[in-house]
Amino acid sequence: MQLPNNFASMGESRAWHRPPGQAYRGGFDDPAVAWHDQVMIRGVLLDLSGVIYVGTHVLPGAKDALSRLRDAGLAIRFLTNSTRVPKKDILARLRQMGIVIAGEELFTPAEVARELLAHRKRSPHLLIHPDLMEDFQGLAAHAARAVVIGDAGPAFTFEALNAAFRELVAGADFLALASNRYFRDDDGGLSLDAGAFVAALEFASRRRAEILGKPSAGFFAAALASMSCDAADAVMIGDDAEMDVSGALVAGLGCALLVRTGKYLPGAEKDVDPGPTAVVDDLPAAVQWILDRSGQASPGAARA
Ligand SMILES: [Mg+2]
Repeated sequence: MQLPNNFASMGESRAWHRPPGQAYRGGFDDPAVAWHDQVMIRGVLLDLSGVIYVGTHVLPGAKDALSRLRDAGLAIRFLTNSTRVPKKDILARLRQMGIVIAGEELFTPAEVARELLAHRKRSPHLLIHPDLMEDFQGLAAHAARAVVIGDAGPAFTFEALNAAFRELVAGADFLALASNRYFRDDDGGLSLDAGAFVAALEFASRRRAEILGKPSAGFFAAALASMSCDAADAVMIGDDAEMDVSGALVAGLGCALLVRTGKYLPGAEKDVDPGPTAVVDDLPAAVQWILDRSGQASPGAARA
């Protein structure tokens, strides 16, 4: 993947949670906002976990919904913050669900990390899930170090966290593949994601991690550039109000839709600013929302 030249300076805006007392901006449900004056949807960015599947189960209607987007001629890219499995296994999992996407259509934080490590000439200290190790094979060795932290799951032992902490105190770069708080796990419950452990290391080391996946503006920009789509002409679909929705809007996307599947908890849209353009039930509803607003329809006619 090709990173934007200014990638390193594009991921710093992390104030997703709305400060107490500030008004909630209702996005396109706010009658003051005329959506048709602002957007012309040409591209769609999709989160995977919680939108297309949960664990190993494809969500109802997801496969047909993706087909509808492709049939409508919209450019599509997939951006995941999942860092427990290598990219080839994500693609294989999708194939088993009957969803075929090309490797170039899927953007992962591990790819960004590889690019940055090579560009900055750093050897990684990997605090990641054992299954993800293969995405970091074959990197050149350098004297300078960078801690790379992802969702290591059961590999988040005291020893592993402490070793990373010592690297940070010694001056290693601090790269976080993602900083999501939690995700909807295969057993139906919520599980801790990388963010809690990133925060622990930030606290102890007094350092600040560079976030490489969503909500980094550079991550969105790389996907948009690959399909030659201006941010303002793109819509993001995700189940994470902070990383997917606020992140996309801060990165300049024209719209961001929050789905009520995956990790969604009632009211999640009220805890973030900017809030979602719309909250919809699931991916099929999100696709319908987009198709109602793209193509030939006269501007005001499609408003729900
Ligand atoms: Mg998700």
